[in-house]
Amino acid sequence: NRQWILRQRPHGLIQDGDLELVETLVPELKDGEVLVRTIYLSIDPTNRTWMNDSEGYLPPVGLGDVMRGLTLGVVEQSRGERFREGDLVMPLSGAWADYAVVPEAGLRPVHRAPGLPLTANLSVLGMTGMTAYFGVTDVLKAKPGETLVISAAAGAVGSIAGQVAKQRGCRVIGIAGGAEKCRWLTEDLGFDGAVDYKNEDVGDALDRLAPDGIDLNFENVGGDIMIAVWNRLKVHGRMAVCGLISAYNATRMPPSPNFARIITHRLDVKGFLVLDYAHRAKEMVAEMGPWLADGKIHWKVHVDDGLEGAVGSLNRLFTGDHDGKLMVRVSEE
Ligand code: NDP
Repeated sequence: NRQWILRQRPHGLIQDGDLELVETLVPELKDGEVLVRTIYLSIDPTNRTWMNDSEGYLPPVGLGDVMRGLTLGVVEQSRGERFREGDLVMPLSGAWADYAVVPEAGLRPVHRAPGLPLTANLSVLGMTGMTAYFGVTDVLKAKPGETLVISAAAGAVGSIAGQVAKQRGCRVIGIAGGAEKCRWLTEDLGFDGAVDYKNEDVGDALDRLAPDGIDLNFENVGGDIMIAVWNRLKVHGRMAVCGLISAYNATRMPPSPNFARIITHRLDVKGFLVLDYAHRAKEMVAEMGPWLADGKIHWKVHVDDGLEGAVGSLNRLFTGDHDGKLMVRVSEE
């Protein structure tokens, strides 16, 4: 059983030696425990924040501990009563490892969506879809005709969020790195505009694409990109702070916007965590399911093979060198 152990806290992008892949024996199961073989490991920006020794929504991963991660796996052995060999499951607290021994109460069942690959359960119908869906519908309460700007728009969450907002009748502008990602947003996903932040000035492009200002911001990046959007939010504009990826690896904190605008423009700024919506998954599936079946929502996954490459995979999120929801295939389905 291979496990990734956190050896030292990374400074910037993760370097060799920050984590170590070690071989261990799978312990004997006790009553009520289940052995889960990892099939997919979800690679998420928040994984990097768990490596920092800072206050977060979960405690940091301890030095010498197995790296925490969201996984989807299959039951190989069970000494529990609810789960049987062959059941697909998601541990509530998963790990970067081939196998995990989990108390039965710490498992959620996974139901394959008819007609969709299993990767959908870790992406568009999983945490990614939940974040996008509730961020747009519940946090922002997006309404028809409103102009919404999304950063990291060609990423897993951003691309779904933009499409949910289109379904809600918004005008959607995405900010992404590179011409190809921007082309995908406007030509394939139906966004009304895209800003290539690597090759053009974000503020100038927003002035051109949203000359009357911005009603809604679905924020995934922070720093200068967020400031450019913030400075164009209209009176009573609303902002959902979903993520600040530009800060997760940063060795110096990126700049912040001027909070005076919250007063002068009576802005509504809300942070949210998808965890708080876990009990509302059915609402998302009820609305997104038919959109997916009708081909109204496009989604991509980027699968890297092999647990041994997990660290390199995580680093991809910070360079943008991936195309869709990033995950590692640890073993065959
Ligand atoms: P993505 O698939 O969007 O991958 C991250 C993307 O961020 C990259 O592809 C890259 O896109 C962009 N990016 C990375 N660094 C920078 C930078 N310095 N400046 C500008 N863009 C950058 O990941 P996810 O969809 O999984 O996550 C997106 C955001 O959502 C993250 O901030 C994450 O923390 C947040 N999140 C929040 C949740 C919550 O509960 N609040 C739950 C899940 C995710 P490009 O190529 O365009 O540069």
